[in-house]
Amino acid sequence: MTHPHNIYIHVPFCISKCNYCAFFSRAVRAPDWDTYARGVMDELDYWARTLGRVRVPTIFFGGGTPSLMPVTVFEQIISKINSVFDIDEKCEITLESNPGTIDNNKLDAFINAGVNRLSVGVQSLDDNKLKFLGRRHSTHDAINLLNAANARGIRVSADFIYGLPGDSVDDVVRLCRNINKLGLQHCSMYELTIEAGTPFATMNLNMPSNDEMADMYDAIENTLNIPRYEVSNYAAPGNECRHNQNVWDGDAYIGIGCGAAGRILMDNQWYEQRGAGEQFEKLSDTARAAERVITGLRTMRGVALDNTVRKILNMSYLRKNPELVQINSASRIVATRDGMRILDDVIFNLLGEINAT
Ligand code: SF4
Repeated sequence: MTHPHNIYIHVPFCISKCNYCAFFSRAVRAPDWDTYARGVMDELDYWARTLGRVRVPTIFFGGGTPSLMPVTVFEQIISKINSVFDIDEKCEITLESNPGTIDNNKLDAFINAGVNRLSVGVQSLDDNKLKFLGRRHSTHDAINLLNAANARGIRVSADFIYGLPGDSVDDVVRLCRNINKLGLQHCSMYELTIEAGTPFATMNLNMPSNDEMADMYDAIENTLNIPRYEVSNYAAPGNECRHNQNVWDGDAYIGIGCGAAGRILMDNQWYEQRGAGEQFEKLSDTARAAERVITGLRTMRGVALDNTVRKILNMSYLRKNPELVQINSASRIVATRDGMRILDDVIFNLLGEINAT
């Protein structure tokens, strides 16, 4: 029996590297798109041979900067997926994009080729902060792209970064009020973290304290006019990113392209897909259930309390800490608001026995 698999396609090219970025991407002046497309096609063929003709509920082009991709390459990839798998009629097809890399003609061409959700790396609504982050675009460029995508009736999301050196809670409230004016139905709010190997890691930056960051996190929830549905993600009901929700919920997905991971389900056995595409190895039921707890508890929907999850949980911790974590009426385990604030601790304790082995 074949199971539906969501597809993530990594596009590892950027025009230049941002100062905070530890994602798998390279700054390349002229990417070799033919070689890239051939590699993606080969991996898709491999998975079609391995899995058969699976149904595809969502496709997500992430990066890097997927909007740099020529639309012809995008078309080749989609038509390949179409020829070897069954793309759902209502398949969500997301393209991550950066302002300044996609004009209205290119946006139209992507939409004609199947993109129905655009995720825009806005990051800040302050040009000085954009410069500090090493972004190549202005606020104006970003708002133009959001407006152009909205005007075309596709679903739109925007990414933002908060907690920059010198940021106060008031700054974050102001940012959220300005985001509200954009009329977004979905946005992602990421706390700036300093990653090893990035320019920021060498700059000895004076970051906000953990307490200040926690206050900013609360201020975001209290100020944005769309609700949080995952630790870093906010959406008007019905506008959640289906691809990510499926992955967080424990559905199967194939990762294509360098650095993409996946979780494959074949004959009721889970496999972890690692590194460059075609390598995968068995995942025990325990390990898979633990992953589902870790990703599911980051969402407001929580994680379904089925037998595999029940088996691995420290149920007495669950019973004794209702102020942090509970079972709701839909038999899903959900972290409370207080639990969300110390989610890593809550998950560590819930998975107590696994951690001990
Ligand atoms: S555009 Fe995105 S992936 Fe590329 S360097 Fe900047 S943050 Fe990283």
